[in-house]
Amino acid sequence: MSEMRVRFAPSPTGFLHIGGVRTAIFNWLLARHNGGKFLIRIEDTDKQRSTEEFEADILDALEWLGLTADEEHLRQSTRLTFHKEVVDQLVERGHAFRCFVSPEEAAKIKEAEREAGGIDAFRSPDRDLSSEESQRRADAGEPHAIRFKVPTGSIRFEDAVHGVIETPCNTIDDFILMRSDGTPVYMVAVVADDFEMAVNFVLRGDDHITNTPKQIMIYEALGWPVPTFAHVPLILGQDKKRLSKRHGATAVTEYRKMGYLPEAILSYMAMLGWNPGDDRELLNREELIEAFDTKGIGSKSATFDEQKLEWVNAQFISRLPDAELELAVRPLVAEKVASGEFPAGAGKMLPVAVKLLKSRAHFPVDFVEKGFYVFTEPTTIIDEKAAKKRLKDEGTPTWLDGLATAYDGLDEWSEESLENAMREYAEGEEIGFGKVIHPVRLAVTAQGAGPSLFEILVELGKETVVRRLRWLAGFLREKGTPPEL
Ligand code: GLU
Repeated sequence: MSEMRVRFAPSPTGFLHIGGVRTAIFNWLLARHNGGKFLIRIEDTDKQRSTEEFEADILDALEWLGLTADEEHLRQSTRLTFHKEVVDQLVERGHAFRCFVSPEEAAKIKEAEREAGGIDAFRSPDRDLSSEESQRRADAGEPHAIRFKVPTGSIRFEDAVHGVIETPCNTIDDFILMRSDGTPVYMVAVVADDFEMAVNFVLRGDDHITNTPKQIMIYEALGWPVPTFAHVPLILGQDKKRLSKRHGATAVTEYRKMGYLPEAILSYMAMLGWNPGDDRELLNREELIEAFDTKGIGSKSATFDEQKLEWVNAQFISRLPDAELELAVRPLVAEKVASGEFPAGAGKMLPVAVKLLKSRAHFPVDFVEKGFYVFTEPTTIIDEKAAKKRLKDEGTPTWLDGLATAYDGLDEWSEESLENAMREYAEGEEIGFGKVIHPVRLAVTAQGAGPSLFEILVELGKETVVRRLRWLAGFLREKGTPPEL
């Protein structure tokens, strides 16, 4: 094949859907893998439902994911003249005709034909009108549509996902190409624009599979090269129903706001219904481009699993270079400083937060929410369950103060020395290690779980740690053991 040319053709009648974006990802990967061109066409002929807001959302989301087009976008609504010319050409070549039968009448004719045991498709009584009569009736102002004169036989094509698909022509109506108001229909616009853009490989959702035989008829009638088609199965929600708003967030931009990285969306969505032929679960952009092939696309629907996507995001966060991660989290810290939640200058703790939480964070926001204690002092215990379980001994305030004093006297501030000092302290008091270590975590982080405790202590430094141990001791004396929160 000459250079592969593929396109993503969204209708700006809604935000870019997380399921819909997979079609864009597949097309983009196909182009990149084959050294071809990825094109974008905005299918905005439905004036009632298309909006500039949706269009901007779609283009923003594609850009955010790095799915950039290799040529200028084509806007379908600017192509009307050409679409009409295509219909004219079909009429001239005898593949289309004026049909004076109204849609209601057409439905009745089809039904009567079926009842009489004939074919299951509408065949217009006007398909063989002489051109003189057709012209005369049109000139007399009789309303009419232009319909395609469906041939006999069958339409066969080899779908790159589903294999050979053959459709008998006697199941296809003489379909409308141009409505009685003179506007060409979608079926014409798609073929005309794909031809104009020299698209030679059409990868799109399964929901278009029944349009394909009709589109092939149009290509063949005009003597245009027929592209290769690949129809990808729909994405389902956990309940095996088509993925929709009922399943939670659907717009790509919502996922962006939640803190998903473009790389994670790209990796997870590409592997939803496609596999690289081995057991890799995480592929970065370059690896996807290298491995992508329509052979790996399954012919069954894939199920969207938001938890898995979240796991993939966590994996990509843990692999991001620290500097990039800091860049992603810095605005979130700035927001907290602006709102007064974090003190001025909290930003200098960003590298510490990244170091401590990188391997555990699922989203950038985790660094400032779960990791808030890196930036600011806890003022209460936020984990009530842990407080009830771990801060119920009357002796806890005394032990916290005791350990604070022991820590204050340490010359060496390392994970090892801190752990040893804690063990020695517990032994001296004849209490279990757990009576000390859990309250210490709560004192320093206000939570019952998190990164390695001694690593946190080392990173926060002696002054902060000693201060927080004493703070929790005082807090418990005031609020009781366990504390009333
Ligand atoms: N605009 C159509 C859609 O959003 C795509 C048409 C096509 O890919 O042929 O479903």
